[in-house]
This record gives sequence, C-alpha cells and structure tokens, in this order.
Amino acid sequence: MDLKKFIRDVPDFPKKGIIFKDITPLLLNAEAFKTAVREMISPYRGEKINKILAIEARGFIFGAAMAYELGCGLIIARKKGKLPWEKIKKTYSLEYGEEILEVHRDAIESGDRILIVDDLIATGGTARAMAELVEEMGGEVAGFSFLVELTFLDGRKVLEGYRVETIIKY
Ligand code: AMP
Repeated sequence: MDLKKFIRDVPDFPKKGIIFKDITPLLLNAEAFKTAVREMISPYRGEKINKILAIEARGFIFGAAMAYELGCGLIIARKKGKLPWEKIKKTYSLEYGEEILEVHRDAIESGDRILIVDDLIATGGTARAMAELVEEMGGEVAGFSFLVELTFLDGRKVLEGYRVETIIKY
C-alpha cells in the first residue's frame, strides 16, 4: 500500500515557507491507518518495550494505537500546563524560541525500555529532547518510530546512536 498517497501537502502552514505534511487523509482511510500503525510497530516486534512515549498531539494518535497493539503502557508528553498532576518538564529550543513538554513524575521508572513515537521527524529537536527526558528519569530509549521523515532536514543526525525507524520519506 502506497501510504504517501494519503499525506497531503499544505503549503505555507503554519507559516510561510513551511510545507505542512497533513496526515488527516491517512486517518480517514481505515486500511491506510491500520497499515501505518502496523508498519510503525513492525521493526520493534519481539523487542522488549514496556512503554511508548507519544508526543503531543499527532503522536498520541499513532502512539495509542501502537501501545494497544503491542500491549504496553502509554506515556503522553504534553505541552506545558496541560497535565494535571506532578510533572517533570523538558525545555528545548526550536527554530524560533523555546518549547516545553511535560510528563507526569510517575510516567517513567528506572529500567523502563521506551519507544518514542511521533507522526513526523523534521529537525529531530523534539525527539532528542524526549530521549533526554527519558534518560534523565532513569529509562532507556529502545528507539524511535515516526510515520514521516523529512530527510532533507537531517533529523537522524541529531538522534545519532539511537535506532530510528520511519515509513514515509521525503
Ligand atoms: P522537529 O522537532 O523539528 O523534528 O519537529 C517535529 C515536530 O513538529 C513533530 O511533532 C511534527 O508533527 C511537527 N512538524 C514539524 N515540521 C512539520 C511539517 N512540515 N509538517 C507537519 N508537522 C511538522
């Protein structure tokens, strides 16, 4: 199945010069969504994974389906101020300014093997920050799984030393 057919390019969103990769057509097609989730899991079948860490917001969609299928726990990494309980936060820099993602303090236990999931890897900055957060909390990064990779931005370089699996490459 050619999943690329289900990714819509939206030029100049959210700002001029960015081509936004819209995954909503893929979500609308039952077979495409199922294939995407299966392919995102596939390289990690048979690996020891306790938890998936999914990144707000589109990472939640794929991460939740993958955790259900793998039978593992799900950690949601949320933007600042959204989680209700005690949090550990990670601040990281993006092209313009800073971003903060948070997880609950009890989300990661020492020795957890965690698969980090998002819809797309661009510069890799977000994913890198989440790997640091996992390790600072005593977990181990089993790898990363992304549906889409913007190879021209070289996000893999930022994640050097980690296992990075992606399905659709541009
Ligand atoms: P980065 O930290 O640069 O790898 O950015 C990754 C995050 O930004 C992911 O959560 C993506 O969903 C989002 N993102 C970055 N660039 C795009 C794009 N061109 N289309 C859709 N989402 C994007």
